[in-house]
Amino acid sequence: MHVNAFLESKLWSSGSEWLSKSEENWPRESPLEPVPEELMERETVAAGATCSGKYNAIFTRYSHFNKMLRVVAWISRFRRNCQSRRLGQPSCLNATLTVEELERSKGLLLRLVQSESYLQEIKDLHTGKLVSPRSTVRALNPFQDEQGLLRVGGRLQHSNEPYESKHPILIPGNHPFTKLLARHYHHKLLHGGPRLMLAVIREQYWPVNGKRLLHGIIRSCYNCTRTNPTVKQPMGQLPYARVTPSRAFSNTGVDYCGPVYLRAPHRKAAPTKAYICVFVCFSTKATHLELVGDLSTAAFMSALRRFIARRGKPSHIHSDNGRNFIGARNELHEIYRRLQNQSELNHITNTCATEGIRWHLIPPKAPNFGGLWESAVKIAKRHLQRQLRNSLLNFEEMVSVLAQIEACMNSRPLAPLAEDTSDLSALTPAHFFIGCSLHSIPDPNLRDIPLNRLDRFQRLQEKAQQF
Ligand SMILES: [Zn+2]
Repeated sequence: MHVNAFLESKLWSSGSEWLSKSEENWPRESPLEPVPEELMERETVAAGATCSGKYNAIFTRYSHFNKMLRVVAWISRFRRNCQSRRLGQPSCLNATLTVEELERSKGLLLRLVQSESYLQEIKDLHTGKLVSPRSTVRALNPFQDEQGLLRVGGRLQHSNEPYESKHPILIPGNHPFTKLLARHYHHKLLHGGPRLMLAVIREQYWPVNGKRLLHGIIRSCYNCTRTNPTVKQPMGQLPYARVTPSRAFSNTGVDYCGPVYLRAPHRKAAPTKAYICVFVCFSTKATHLELVGDLSTAAFMSALRRFIARRGKPSHIHSDNGRNFIGARNELHEIYRRLQNQSELNHITNTCATEGIRWHLIPPKAPNFGGLWESAVKIAKRHLQRQLRNSLLNFEEMVSVLAQIEACMNSRPLAPLAEDTSDLSALTPAHFFIGCSLHSIPDPNLRDIPLNRLDRFQRLQEKAQQF
């Protein structure tokens, strides 16, 4: 109807004609009952909906695996009941779903998942061919079981393991079904870690790229993130001395750790205390350990002199200022108290200044400035605790152990190791002293061997290494 015709319509503006008349003139007859024969017979048509997206809508509609499973089980039961009614068979009218029904719906969903992700592989297997070499699951040697599900072939055919874990069902790691399944297992295993989850899931399913998926599930879990947050502290800029190439120990940090107990020369005498003075190079992370008898300034100056004699004079020495340890019941409080004492500090800085060494204290209440030497102290302590446990060493033995620990610390690679076997050996702080790691096997000296015999010598060397 046109808009104007509609607006001019009297039925619209004033209603039916009889409404304006008195009640006696109102129509009396009631609407006619429809005659069954005249009713249009309509055939019930079952319509299937297809999803235009990458995955079926059922996988993205629900956020819980069990709910999705139950919905599919109810739909399957409805379908089966419709078929039974047509065939005149009794329908299932139980209020609860049975295990078989849930298993059937799981199988249905798994077949749907596999047909969405591994259609080509299923086609190949149907035609009796092997899976294409370009397939991402070729290495898993997949096969189809009697239910039409793709399973991992593996090499455990003759083991006593259950069939499900010998040949787990193949599922793609990036499918929403797998994400729901992983989340379901995560809650079932009381927020278990990725290793536990993967081990349990693999008893039945084989999620391709499972590790990455499970790490993502844990990262997105509210409870897990709340209880174990991975806080990434924004790190400040590294100081100039740390990022500028310089001679080893040219810029040095110094700190103390201890006490360590030394066996007295006389058996009956009580063990004596000693401390370890740790020198760390800023540019190469090389470490030098010195054993000092006490926390006096004189003992520190002796240690510094020994360090300079062996490693060369540093141009800058950085140290803690003692204010970070206020209130801490630390044995080392003494040395920091001395550093706070202006006359003691003046003595140290003056002695250093005459040698051309500049002494720097880190800012107060900023222990993060001393991260490099704190880390060196931690590593030295760890080596010492694991090596010595409760054994008591005398002075000589302790000096030897410290030298060995120093060698271990100076043989640590400066960068993470690569998995590549063709990589060269890692760069260590020791490379800056002797050109190789302190623990590497020495190369043979070939200087005295005539040039024409070098090849033969190398062959002999290789042969010797084989035995
Ligand atoms: Zn969790």
